[in-house]
Amino acid sequence: MDLSKHAFFEGKIVPLSEAKINIATHAFLYGTAVFGGLRAYWNEQKKRLFVFRPYDHFRRLLHSAKMMTMRIPYDEEGLIQLTLDVLHTDDWREDIYLRPTIYKADMGIGVKLHDLRDEFCMFVMKFQKYVRNDTDAHVTFSSWRRIDDNVIPARGKVSGAYANSALIKTDANLSGFDEALVLDHNGHVSEGSAMNVFMLRDGVLVTPPVTDNILEGITRRSVIELARNELGLQVVERSIDRTEVFIAEEMFMTGTAAQIVAITKIDHRPIGQGGMGSITTRLRELFDDVVRGRNSSYSKWNLEV
Ligand code: PMP
Repeated sequence: MDLSKHAFFEGKIVPLSEAKINIATHAFLYGTAVFGGLRAYWNEQKKRLFVFRPYDHFRRLLHSAKMMTMRIPYDEEGLIQLTLDVLHTDDWREDIYLRPTIYKADMGIGVKLHDLRDEFCMFVMKFQKYVRNDTDAHVTFSSWRRIDDNVIPARGKVSGAYANSALIKTDANLSGFDEALVLDHNGHVSEGSAMNVFMLRDGVLVTPPVTDNILEGITRRSVIELARNELGLQVVERSIDRTEVFIAEEMFMTGTAAQIVAITKIDHRPIGQGGMGSITTRLRELFDDVVRGRNSSYSKWNLEV
């Protein structure tokens, strides 16, 4: 089993088998939970785990909670301490993924957010690749639209909203594609099923702005900084039209689970020369060094366990 032996549940660390919720729980009935997804990387040379940007992940989690009127008795630092406690309980020596969730924990029927108890929980699991074909992905434009910020907070990681992501992913996979790009209600490219998207056009790296119904990705933010500072690239945040993608030189997707996935074909049209481009290749290498704690210029992003 790839899951952790222990989890944080209802205020303490317990065996995973005891971290159970009732079928009448509000979050299960209505998707009223918000979550985060962090990775920790094993550095074989240093024999240490490095959690990537935990402060930023927990800040976004607390922002998601705020949008959904949820409160827990921990701030970012408290959640980081709790993460260290969870990681020290099970002796991990490989790449892992952490899933913290804040959820409406009361039981019973009633669609609302107020006057309900909030709980925090977290488990851990072994994690390798999320998109198997991450150097040569063939993607399609989804026929689904990305959730709009006026429907469910798009910049929040709201559990119920991931039914949208699941529809996007499954339809793409069942049609033989590795992933999908999804348009927002304005017809602009917003992101993938659970990753942000970048294109290189005329040598400029372009990614949709945070006002185009994207999740404000932490990998996205990291890649923008790396591209500017390490590769000297111009990075522009602006809306992207559907057909711009067809004439881009390079494209890739970013996410905690996905990391950096090279898109080489979209709806049967090759991107650039149809292979992973040189900028994507360099960013992947840079990113891997940074997340594994091998680049001291970015050690501020690594929490050593
Ligand atoms: N968009 C969506 C919908 C996501 O679920 C994720 C994964 N959290 C991302 C983008 C990428 O965000 P991050 O780089 O912070 O993991």
